[in-house]
Amino acid sequence: MKCRHCGSTHMVPFLDLGTAPPSNSYVTADERHLPELWYPLVIHCCRECRLVQTEDFADRETFFSSSYAYFSSFSTSWLDHAERYVADMQARFGLTEASHIVEVAANDGYLLQYAKARGIGCLGIEPTASTAKAARAKGIEIVEEFFGAELGEKLAAEGRSADLTAANNVLAHVPDINDFVAGFARLLKANGVATFEFPHLLNMVREAQFDTAYHEHYSYLSLTSVARVFAANGLSVFDVETTPWHGGSLRVFAQRSDTGRHPVASTVAAMLAEEHAAGMLGDTFYTDFQEAAQTVRDGFMEFLIESRRQGLKVAAYGAAAKGNTLINFSGVKPDLLSFVVDKNPAKQGLLLPGSRIPIVTEEFLKAEKPERVVILPWNLQAEIRQQLSYISDWGGKFVTAVPALTVHP
Ligand SMILES: [Zn+2]
Repeated sequence: MKCRHCGSTHMVPFLDLGTAPPSNSYVTADERHLPELWYPLVIHCCRECRLVQTEDFADRETFFSSSYAYFSSFSTSWLDHAERYVADMQARFGLTEASHIVEVAANDGYLLQYAKARGIGCLGIEPTASTAKAARAKGIEIVEEFFGAELGEKLAAEGRSADLTAANNVLAHVPDINDFVAGFARLLKANGVATFEFPHLLNMVREAQFDTAYHEHYSYLSLTSVARVFAANGLSVFDVETTPWHGGSLRVFAQRSDTGRHPVASTVAAMLAEEHAAGMLGDTFYTDFQEAAQTVRDGFMEFLIESRRQGLKVAAYGAAAKGNTLINFSGVKPDLLSFVVDKNPAKQGLLLPGSRIPIVTEEFLKAEKPERVVILPWNLQAEIRQQLSYISDWGGKFVTAVPALTVHP
């Protein structure tokens, strides 16, 4: 295979999860008798540019599903994060009513609503119809397209260049990362700022977060690789911060390489040094990850089998990509994990792809009273443990599988 950034064919293995169905391909009652398509889920690291990336076996349409779209506004803590972001950026870069913010992957307007409230001009780019509609209902203008060089150039030509662009949790999800990044270089004003937030590969490896791998998650990013992709596409990094999201994320600040004048902060060299010290320029940092993933899987399987021997009923919470990756890599079926609770009504009554574990309501959980509840989205465990704290009434305990199997007291 060829690196999707630099074209090199020198790859080292990072993670091979065998085959898996697309993580959003929930099975309906009518589809129970039909087969499912499983695609290889294999991830490599490019030896030239260190971009960690999935090997492609199907096109984007196979994996892009708008049927079960995630609405960012469902999470109050993420809304707080968005509100703080807008306030911080306004203070730092002196944004006024004459300024223009463009958010790529604007979702349901969870972030731009705060720009609008401050009177700052804004525009959202969002290809998913259901979330775009929700953003428009908040009075936010949305362009319903995929972003890239062509759209960035078109908007700039229409006089809609940006003082600030935001791109949260989207950089890792674009198949053509060069074209996507080039779009920002074309959209920014001469001294404009582009920010990007994405899960940090350093934490993924340190915390054995192999379940963040799925087909639509095309790239697994470090500052080392991102700085290189940016430089090749007209952007340069001038600051970086860490955030706790998704098990540890980076927020990278970039500017146009040709006209940007923001001074480069010492944080950039410090983060690059931290990544290099962790071994991210060598091979073993990447090649050792397979073993770490298998160790997590083994712990999860031992827990499930031992629970069944003891006659304990085990259920799970959170029907999303992370859970599907863990469950399908482990080969778990409903005999070991009887059901998964999810609060999204669109998913209730369906089956998880591959494992065909039923997705149920919280009322079902209260009626069944399982002794163990595995929290699949471990990044939201504080919120979920609070929400389901009543399971202790029947002696229930919470369990997380990543980075190591833990039964919480
Ligand atoms: Zn490469």
